[in-house]
This record gives sequence, C-alpha cells and structure tokens, in this order.
Amino acid sequence: MTDLKQFEVWFITGSQHLYGEETLKQVSAHAEEISKYLNASKAISTSIVFKPIVTTPDEITALCREVNANQKCIGIISWMHTFSPAKMWINGLKILQKPLLHLHTQYNRDIPWSSIDMDFMNLNQSAHGDREFGFIVSRLRKERKVVVGHWKDKDVIKNIDAWCRAAAGWNDWQGAKFVRFGDNMRYVAVTDGDKVEAEYKFGFSVNTHGIGDLVKVINTISDAEVDALIKEYENAYTLSASLQKKGKKRQSLKDAARIELGLKAFLEDGNFKGFTDTFEDLYGMKQLPGIAAQRIMEAGYGFAGEGDWKTSALVRAMKVMGSGLKGGNSFMEDYTYHFEPGNEMVLGAHMLEICSSIADGKPACEIHPLGIGGKEDPVRLVFNVAGGNALNASIIDMGNRFRLLVNEVQAVKPKNKLPKLPVARVLWKPLPDMKTGCAAWIYAGGAHHTCYSQNLSSEQLQDFADIAGIECVLINRDTRLNQLRNELRWSEYYCQNK
Ligand code: MN
Repeated sequence: MTDLKQFEVWFITGSQHLYGEETLKQVSAHAEEISKYLNASKAISTSIVFKPIVTTPDEITALCREVNANQKCIGIISWMHTFSPAKMWINGLKILQKPLLHLHTQYNRDIPWSSIDMDFMNLNQSAHGDREFGFIVSRLRKERKVVVGHWKDKDVIKNIDAWCRAAAGWNDWQGAKFVRFGDNMRYVAVTDGDKVEAEYKFGFSVNTHGIGDLVKVINTISDAEVDALIKEYENAYTLSASLQKKGKKRQSLKDAARIELGLKAFLEDGNFKGFTDTFEDLYGMKQLPGIAAQRIMEAGYGFAGEGDWKTSALVRAMKVMGSGLKGGNSFMEDYTYHFEPGNEMVLGAHMLEICSSIADGKPACEIHPLGIGGKEDPVRLVFNVAGGNALNASIIDMGNRFRLLVNEVQAVKPKNKLPKLPVARVLWKPLPDMKTGCAAWIYAGGAHHTCYSQNLSSEQLQDFADIAGIECVLINRDTRLNQLRNELRWSEYYCQNK
C-alpha cells in the first residue's frame, strides 16, 4: 500500500581526526559501500542513505538537527568504524527525536590472518569503537536497537529491515488523524483510554465527527458512482442471488456501496488515516458499514469497531509496516473457542468487519440480518483465511502507561464448511498452547480486539514498541506462565518508578 522506499534511513558513521586524512577517506569509502549495499538489498524496505562521516561534536549535533527536521528521514543507523569518543555524541543524541539503530558491524568479515598488522587494526576498530558509543547511548537512557553481525549477513539485514518497517509505522503515526463516528461502545472498558496521553506519546490525534456529518457526505454520492462501484463488486466477489441484478436485496447493495463511497470521501477530504464506528450510533445510516469497512481497510486505512481508536490506529501502523509483504493485516476479535482436547483453537471474526486483505480466495458478497443495532441488514464479504504463521497484537491503556501485547499464533486451514456462519473468519492456535496463550493474554490485560497479521513478525512489533517507548509483552512458544506473571509484576514496579 505504501511505498516504503520513499522513506530514508540515514547511515551515519562516526570517527575522529586522530588517524589522519588517509584513514578517514577509507572509513568514508567503506561506510558508503555498506550503505549502498543495504540500500540495494531487496530485503530492506526503506531507502538507506549514506551521509558523510562525522568527526566532531559540532558535526554530530548539526547532523542530528538535520535528521529531526528532514521530512523524508525516518531514523538513523549509526556505526563506529573506528573510535569516535562518545562525549562528542552527547548533545546530538540529546536532541535526536527519531529512531536509532546501532549497527555493530565490521567492514571485513574475516581477520586476514597472514597480513593483519597495526594499520589494519587501527582501521577496523568497531569491536571497541561501538562499545564506547553503546555506553553513551545507555548512559543517556536512550532507546535504540542494537544489531550485531557482518553487514552482508542475511539475519543482520532481516534485523535491520524489521526496525526500518517499525520506523516507517512510527513515522506514519506522527501527525496522523483518526476519526471516530460515534463514541466508545457503552460501558466497554478496554476499547477506551486516554486520547490526550496517546497523542502525546504516539503522535496521532483522535477526534469525533457527528454521524450526521458522514451521512451528509454519503448522500452526496451520485447513482453513477454507486453503479461503477457495484461493477467492481461484481468483478471481485461472488454475489449471492438476492444481491444480483433484479435480486430482491439489490437496493441494499446500492446502499452499502454508497456508504463505502461516502466514508472514503470523508476520510480523503479530512486526510484521515483510519476510523472507528459503533453499531450503537448509526443515526441516519441505513446499515452498519460492513463491506465498506472491509474494503477501506484493504485500501490501507485503520479501522476498528465500537469506537476502538487504539486498535484502529494499530491496524493502520501495521498495514504500513507490512507494505510490500505477502499477506495482510486486519481488525480482529477473539470470538469463539473450540476446546476439543489436543486440537484447541480460537475462531476469530467480527460482526462484519474483517479486512479482505487476509482472504483466502475470492470472497462471497452476502447479506444477512444483524442481531444488534436495529438497522437494515448489512452487506458483508464472507471468506476463510489460510493457515500459517500469524500473530495478534493489541494496545491497551494501563492507566499509567500503554502496553503492546503480541501473541504469535498458528493459523489453521479450515476443515469444515461453516455454511451458516455469515461472516469472514479465521481459525488459529495461540502459542505456546491454548491454555498458556489465553491465560497469559488475560493476565496481561490484552483486549478482545486486535490487529491480526499474516506478514509481520514479533521482532518488528517489539521494535515498534521500543521506538514508541512503551511496554511490549510477547507471548510465543517460549512463554512460561509463571515467568510471564513475574515479568508483569516487575514491569509494574519498573513503570511506576520510570
Ligand atoms: Mn468488537
């Protein structure tokens, strides 16, 4: 959805003047070669831009100021090829407002055993130069990711890209606007939270517009626009009989298309990156947006139901982070359990709004009654989701901080047809196992709403949480419940004293 190559990560190499011009030239040539190699790598999603080496406190501070001000730059990779006395970095790091990755690498992969001499040693000093730099970053209590290994190593590149994607998601949040149509679902706790603190901490704003404002826009959509969108539906989906031309529910399909076009226009006009709605407040709307929410999500917008703005924002960020990768990201809810011994799993779904980016095969476009909301029957896309590795992520507001939870899961290819279930659905087995995974999630206070991802890794989400400066609770195959419960207790104490 988003071309991440438009974003730049600046490759900054530190040194000093002690070694003379000849050495500095070599340092610069090596740094340029490494940054160009990373930039050309298909496994790195953003651009990596070489910057002239920095050798004085003034140069470092000036460059950090430029990093902060440059719109394209979403973070920096630092590397100390030689020794760069780290007091030189204090003022620069103090003002640096963008994500930092410390690449602890070395130009040569191997020691040249037969030719190594002191010139070689003096050029290749990152083994100690990067420690001096690491000290000052730790001393300043500055968050960063440390990646260790030779720069051509596949895992090193994967670690770098995880962080680049997280930085792109973070960059997307800065100044982003999310709109809520209607408030939080009445009495629901976990979907609510502190929007002022979220804007301060995360950089995005969440504001409400009256449902009537949206309905006004929906009503301006012309019949010709509606007809054109219905053609798109007919090409992309298998329409049930009642929605086809001359079918008795054809009008509902037109209403749904009009809602989609109105919503899309509202989001585009207001420059919003996502939205929430609630079935409790649809005044003037004919049906709850079903296919509209599904398709708008697929187009890259954030969405969550019941006023859940935190999940809507997370869905958006995760879509940006997953740009260009196979698979999708969707709003999700843990809906119903299958407790068959040895084959326990979760059925994930929502009333309607699962993003079609995770559909396996051609979705069916159907209309069915909705038990709640008191509106006309909503049109929705119905589909299954393929098996494979996936994860669920959720942001909750703990009162004194935000927490990101991530549960790695194994999606299960559906064996049964579910002919009477009129919604898109996913089956998964939480890791490490159903009992531990669900208990861990509940002890950690994770929401029933999540973003379900087929293409992101927990490494990317941990990097994202680190960049955001929030707690990350990871539940995966290594999770032991007692250990996790202790970590939650310790973290409570840590966050109170931070
Ligand atoms: Mn829900």
